[in-house]
Amino acid sequence: MTVTTGTLYIVSAPSGAGKTSLVKALLDSETQIRVSVSHTTRAMRPGEADGVNYHFVSREQFTSMLEHNDFLEHAQVFDNLYGTSQKWVEQTLADGYDLILEIDWQGAQQVRRLMPKAKSIFILPPTQEALRHRLTNRGQDSGEIIERRMRDAVSEMSHYVEYDYLVINDDFAHALSDLKAIFRANQLLQEPQQQRHAGLLGELLV
Ligand code: 5GP
Repeated sequence: MTVTTGTLYIVSAPSGAGKTSLVKALLDSETQIRVSVSHTTRAMRPGEADGVNYHFVSREQFTSMLEHNDFLEHAQVFDNLYGTSQKWVEQTLADGYDLILEIDWQGAQQVRRLMPKAKSIFILPPTQEALRHRLTNRGQDSGEIIERRMRDAVSEMSHYVEYDYLVINDDFAHALSDLKAIFRANQLLQEPQQQRHAGLLGELLV
């Protein structure tokens, strides 16, 4: 059986737009999609687990990985370093899985340069107020940090024009169905379909 190389997807959003929950729900229903677990130097939040949400590493470990060219992309976001393992991305795509990178706009720019066929999706909140409400309700950050996150969110959102798709997360189920539609449409593109159905196409054209 020929394995079709998977498609790489970049998913970006300001903190609090619901990106992680949407991606999780997508993965629950789509077995052909994997998500990359990034390395980060930021502290673990309550409810997070090492190796699940992130690989939590020290600055020294991160720097050493950088020196060994282990990252496909990396960026500093909100005082912390984040990076995507190059080896894992290459292997997962070669195994035929579609792969999601949940990264910021800086990482997205680096990945687009290296892999121009990657599809990028930006998730937006319905209003600034909704975003502030979601950041406040997390209850994990102080008021000062929330205001800084709001400013960072506006700066992140200003990059929406660089993305192929925009999804507005007002109603969760609606946003999830939009996200699924993007993946489905890309799976149906001629090139991957041709690889998947090479036998059928051969038979139909005799
Ligand atoms: P958080 O710390 O709230 O989980 O994530 C903060 C920001 O870092 C988010 O915008 C998230 O998309 C981004 N991020 C997470 N992992 C990576 C990564 O590996 N590379 C880049 N460039 N950004 C990342």
